[in-house]
Amino acid sequence: MRSALPNLWRDRWWRMYDREPIDGWVDGRLALTGDAAHPMLQYLAQGACQALEDADCLAAQVGKQAGVELLDWDIALRDYAETRTVRTVRVQRIARDWGDLWHCDGLFRSVRNAMLRDREPTDYRHVDRLYGA
Ligand SMILES: Cc1cc2nc3c(=O)[nH]c(=O)nc-3n(C[C@H](O)[C@H](O)[C@H](O)COP(=O)(O)OP(=O)(O)OC[C@H]3O[C@@H](n4cnc5c(N)ncnc54)[C@H](O)[C@@H]3O)c2cc1C
Repeated sequence: MRSALPNLWRDRWWRMYDREPIDGWVDGRLALTGDAAHPMLQYLAQGACQALEDADCLAAQVGKQAGVELLDWDIALRDYAETRTVRTVRVQRIARDWGDLWHCDGLFRSVRNAMLRDREPTDYRHVDRLYGA
């Protein structure tokens, strides 16, 4: 890793963007998923993970109506959006916080480094809520 680091471009800086969480994911039969619904910063590597969770949740909501003659899409889409927004709002916000954590200076940086150094490499308590769901 160390020998590869000098090969990284250091002369180009890419802007990173997210959006404030929204709660209007569904309009009639149109439903947002993935980045369209919850664009987030990259610090948790969760963008695609959350898109997959969206798909899984939507499938589960549709699956709840298995056997009914006419699927009620209004209910399925409403429940999908209600279920997912709770989690994705949190992930969007935490991703921002982690960005602040990576790019901090001074005393804040010293405290961060001490905290990270203090934890065992197998201690996942700060990200369990993401990966242990
Ligand atoms: C460098 C990088 C690293 C990443 N690493 C991770 C990671 O480690 N873990 C993780 O979970 N996430 C990661 N992500 C985030 C992840 O890639 C995205 O969150 C994920 O791809 C979002 O999926 P999506 O289907 O919502 O959108 P997208 O993957 O962006 O798919 C949208 C698709 O719609 C198409 N499209 C757009 N407009 C139109 C149109 N008008 N008509 C037809 N098609 C259209 C686009 O071409 C695209 O194919 C990373 C992203 C980047 C850029």
